[in-house]
Amino acid sequence: MFTRMKIASTLVGIVALVGFAPLKVHGQKKIEIENYCTFGGAKLEEEVWTFTSDDEAVNWIKKIAKYSGLEPNFQIRAANVGNALATIQGEERIILYDQGFMRDMDAKSGTDWASVSILAHEIGHHLQGHTLRHGGSRPNQELEADKFSGFILARMNATLDQAKAAMQTMKSPGSSTHPPSGARVAAIINGWRSAEDLKEEITTAKKESDKPDSPTLQERVTEPINPTQPLAQPTAQDPTPNIVAQVVIYNDNNRYFLTSNGLIMAVTFFNQKPMMYGRQLPSNDARWAWMIQTPRGLYPVDLQGIIVGMNTQNGQLFRLGHVSSM
Ligand SMILES: [Zn+2]
Repeated sequence: MFTRMKIASTLVGIVALVGFAPLKVHGQKKIEIENYCTFGGAKLEEEVWTFTSDDEAVNWIKKIAKYSGLEPNFQIRAANVGNALATIQGEERIILYDQGFMRDMDAKSGTDWASVSILAHEIGHHLQGHTLRHGGSRPNQELEADKFSGFILARMNATLDQAKAAMQTMKSPGSSTHPPSGARVAAIINGWRSAEDLKEEITTAKKESDKPDSPTLQERVTEPINPTQPLAQPTAQDPTPNIVAQVVIYNDNNRYFLTSNGLIMAVTFFNQKPMMYGRQLPSNDARWAWMIQTPRGLYPVDLQGIIVGMNTQNGQLFRLGHVSSM
């Protein structure tokens, strides 16, 4: 749940916001934030002061908006908020970020894409309408914002490692408002891969448009994978795929892992060398965060990382396993 809090904004730095919707002049007037969505779920201080945003942050917001195909109608302000948050004041969409937190995340993760991914996450909250609803951050909304962040960073040509750097650095066990970072990294990967798949679909569609017998995109996506294929194939975007999560299937003695390039690898009793067994697919169903495709079938993974099975006799859903961070 959110806490009602007071914000005191200053006049300083309005000039730096040229190019954005003009900031309403609040002076020293205190305002109250009713709903907000944070990046990391940190508790906010009683009084929040906002001040001039760095030019760099303003430029990144412009770029993120451009790659989303939208007008950059967001206010961005530095503030003592501990991490970053999205909120609405009247009709203005505002992003507040803590300069110390952003610098820290960039330094710890070794890339400036960390702070960009955090800004993208907050824009994701605005674009998906989360800041319009009461109640602040919710786990499924956090995953939606994470997925958007991964998607937009891929569009901006960040590598997968750069897109998930901030989340991997944060290493959070999760809370009532924010899922554990393992699930959030999976959402970022899912978004990043969706954008890459789109790029690939466009290229493939161009290449194959003249071939009369080429399979449709749908056929290509659902065609069963070959379980004897040896390993996760490095791609230009992800040259050294690594394990990002463990995929636990109940009553199954084999061990499964999710790699950063979206493959499910299996280590079996007979073969200790990891073999490709399936892959991660995006889901169009709002109930599921993503899907696991294996030769045995397609299994949804919900927003908490639960792998869902279906009883073929009565159609009831049950808990088949779960995805947990390494
Ligand atoms: Zn968030």
